[in-house]
Amino acid sequence: MFFYTSLESPLFKNENVCFALSDRYGGVSEGVFNTLNLGYGVGDCKQSVDTNHRRVKEAFVKTFGKADSRVGLGTSESGADRDFAKNIPMFYCQQIHSTKSVVVDENLVSKYRRRDGGMCLGEADAIITHLSNVLVFVMVADCNPILLYDRKNGVVSVIHAGRKGVFDGILPFVFKRMSEVYGTRVEDCLMYVGASIRSCCYEVGEEIRTQAEILGFNDVFQGKNLDLIVCLKQQSENLGLKPSQVEISPFCSSCESGLYSYRREHSTGRFGLLAMLKKGII
Ligand SMILES: [Zn+2]
Repeated sequence: MFFYTSLESPLFKNENVCFALSDRYGGVSEGVFNTLNLGYGVGDCKQSVDTNHRRVKEAFVKTFGKADSRVGLGTSESGADRDFAKNIPMFYCQQIHSTKSVVVDENLVSKYRRRDGGMCLGEADAIITHLSNVLVFVMVADCNPILLYDRKNGVVSVIHAGRKGVFDGILPFVFKRMSEVYGTRVEDCLMYVGASIRSCCYEVGEEIRTQAEILGFNDVFQGKNLDLIVCLKQQSENLGLKPSQVEISPFCSSCESGLYSYRREHSTGRFGLLAMLKKGII
């Protein structure tokens, strides 16, 4: 179900945010989507994705409820977990490789008729919220799933950043939006980058190399292969984030058979980076 969670993270385990990176196990999807595909619109059947959304939400609540009774998330009894999970709205966006973000506030939440599975916020590639007990997630299959957390103001964002999103600067755009809406300062931020395609598996054409040069990225190629992690490190350093504020997963989605990879499989599912703020839950 989960490839990695914030409970294992030295940087995040004591913070008031919890997150999980899902894998492809524990769902109901069949064929090339086996089994925990979280993405609609990739060719999988809708009912399977609905069920997968419910399962991943329940598992999230159970994982963090057990480990941290302080936050009052569920109990070890699965029925109670299910009831509690039902009350937690879960949001995703229709990802379009843009730099657009959506801020989820009380007003927006009240506009949605509550359902068990994920609720779509429309076209965007990042979700920002200060609300606890609201689960937000992005979906990927090689793109970078990124979490940016403002520990002072209690704000979390999840970001979908593929090659285009990284080159177009979705990370600095999301930081700017958090600064404008919440007064976020870089020294209060922590960042996590989940599993994504790495330079071992990411050969690109000449036009991408030219673009990278125009954008001022340095040393981001190994032969013909692009290293988007180096790009993200350069962007986070430019924002003022210190390496000690950043955690980067060492795993390549194309090398890991437990994750979906567009490069490796083409027709495939999506795994997710799910996040929720803990504050105020008691
Ligand atoms: Zn690889």
